[in-house]
Amino acid sequence: MYVLGNWKMNGSPELLERFTGPLTALQGELSSQAHIGLIPPAGLLGKFPPNCEFMLGAQDVSEYEDGADTGDTSASLLKALGCKLALVGHSERRQLFGESSARVAAKASRALKQKLTPVICLGETWEQREAGDTWQVLTDQLAPVQQQLQGELARCIIAYEPVWAIGTGKTASPEQAQEVHAWIREKIGLHQVALLYGGSVKPENADELFAQKDINGGLIGGASLDIESFEKICRAGARQNK
Ligand code: PEP
Repeated sequence: MYVLGNWKMNGSPELLERFTGPLTALQGELSSQAHIGLIPPAGLLGKFPPNCEFMLGAQDVSEYEDGADTGDTSASLLKALGCKLALVGHSERRQLFGESSARVAAKASRALKQKLTPVICLGETWEQREAGDTWQVLTDQLAPVQQQLQGELARCIIAYEPVWAIGTGKTASPEQAQEVHAWIREKIGLHQVALLYGGSVKPENADELFAQKDINGGLIGGASLDIESFEKICRAGARQNK
């Protein structure tokens, strides 16, 4: 199971300090049951000690090689800073920064070239779900990734994050989440790809969600900013051990 904490544009050197020791110990304790990852803002990445046991990830990665792209962060720099993971296509990037699915695919491809594992985020809005468009939206988000990455998709992680559940306190029911995860697994035809659920995961609902057959872990936003909540969710992941 994977439990990845996305701090979004939150965090500070003090928060990092508070997390590093306990999370290193937790990953050591749960090493055979859970892969724990922390995805802080880019400015904090270089500040983690090289020996922290958990995985570090970036919230975004440039689709370009190092060069004249002010404000972007290259995959090679992320690699040098110790990252193992890179989120691509988080719904906030798609909505607030207009990232297309083609661009998301290019970012995933660039990350793979540096041996970073892309965590490809997908999900529909509430209006799209209500209109019965969920499968079409997910098909459209997946298509460029499938075309561009082909067999390399097997080296990625996919996070299903219904936009209506992100930061809203509304969680997809375990059945709703399982239905979409099973559909994604069938659609990509790669049974080894880890499929994570994201959207208001908390200590209170993590066990039920993680128990679903096609859910291989979670991408956790708000609850990952509190070490106690995050630790409880990591332990829920470890209990499933799949
Ligand atoms: C996220 O940011 O990926 C997320 C799932 O946020 P939250 O857990 O706060 O809904």
